[in-house]
Amino acid sequence: MKNKSPDPLAPRWMDRALYSLTDGLVLMDETAHVAFWNPRAEEVLGWPAVEMVGRRVDELLDRIVARVTAPEPVRAKLQDALALPESDTTIEIELIPLPPALNAELNAATPARAGRHDRTRYVSARLFPVRDADEKHIGVGILLHDVTREREADAMKSQLLSTVSHELRTPLASVKGFATTLLRQDVKWDETTQRDFLRIIEEEADRLTEIIDNLLDMSQLEAGALRVEKEPIQLRTLIREVVDEMRMSTEAHWFVVDLPAELPLVLADARRIRQVLHNLVENAIKYSKGGQITVACQLEKEQVIVGVADQGEGIPAQFLDQVFERFFQIDGASTRRVGGSGLGLSISRGIVEAHGGRIWAESKAGQGSVFRFTLPLVAPDTGE
Ligand code: ADP
Repeated sequence: MKNKSPDPLAPRWMDRALYSLTDGLVLMDETAHVAFWNPRAEEVLGWPAVEMVGRRVDELLDRIVARVTAPEPVRAKLQDALALPESDTTIEIELIPLPPALNAELNAATPARAGRHDRTRYVSARLFPVRDADEKHIGVGILLHDVTREREADAMKSQLLSTVSHELRTPLASVKGFATTLLRQDVKWDETTQRDFLRIIEEEADRLTEIIDNLLDMSQLEAGALRVEKEPIQLRTLIREVVDEMRMSTEAHWFVVDLPAELPLVLADARRIRQVLHNLVENAIKYSKGGQITVACQLEKEQVIVGVADQGEGIPAQFLDQVFERFFQIDGASTRRVGGSGLGLSISRGIVEAHGGRIWAESKAGQGSVFRFTLPLVAPDTGE
């Protein structure tokens, strides 16, 4: 085969490829000075190329070490890898979050490549020798791969595992305890006691099912696989059914249902909206010792706003958004008392958003809470 003449475009392409890499790339020359710093390295580390190119390697080390959680081990590993780069070495570093003002300052220096330096970032740094055509060592390259998402997902999985095992353990212990008690050979239980114990076993088994259902919903939501099958539904019937069912579970509360005389059909998945209503009413019961629970609807343009209000302990302003995060529970006596997994509201939010709606909480401490969500009305021309 004939030798091809060198492509005159190739050097330019190579250059652009290095600039366009989705990983950060830093090159150190033979004299241990920074020779190249691509845009993604600016974003990952926050320092602009103009400031970094030409700096000595130890200055770079000092800067990195000042920002990691484990400075000394990271310094030692980076120094070793930079001094003797015979083969590739991968070092994972955890960058500590910077104060917001410093984050803003860094981002002002590289506005086109602003990064989130105000939160913990995990970066996998891969150091490799750079050699010329004669295999002569002419420098060191560092590829910076941001693995924050992976690490956050790992942390979430561990949290999920510990929550799941903790949550499942309590009802399981109850089932086991009451079953063992009933089976004792040396005691004869009268029929009422037997039925009481069996009822507890049944309730705890229901609780286990509920936790598992919640976890399944959560994983579907996360995978973007929660399907809602929307059809025109009568919200009035749905609300009445949920309230009638929940009324049975409490003696300390009374219910008021406040609906407009004319309530048009909404476009929704009845089973899923029932689940949201059930969760909100259940919370209203759980987080108030007693009093009135009001379920109300208001019409507003093309949507309906559904509200569930209680007269309970309320939610401090700083938690009004956070209560919708998965596993989030306000650390208070009642959360501990009533149990729960902290998943209900995040699932409810997922369901409402899958309908194109919005959900939020309003509260004044000590004066109860109102949870509201919106649902689209069936457009008049498609309504039946
Ligand atoms: P769970 O009730 O299982 O803990 P949720 O996701 O339903 O989980 O609720 C999250 C947290 O929000 C609860 O633990 C509680 O601290 C708070 N919360 C929810 N509803 C109310 C309410 N109506 N009044 C006061 N606090 C509430």
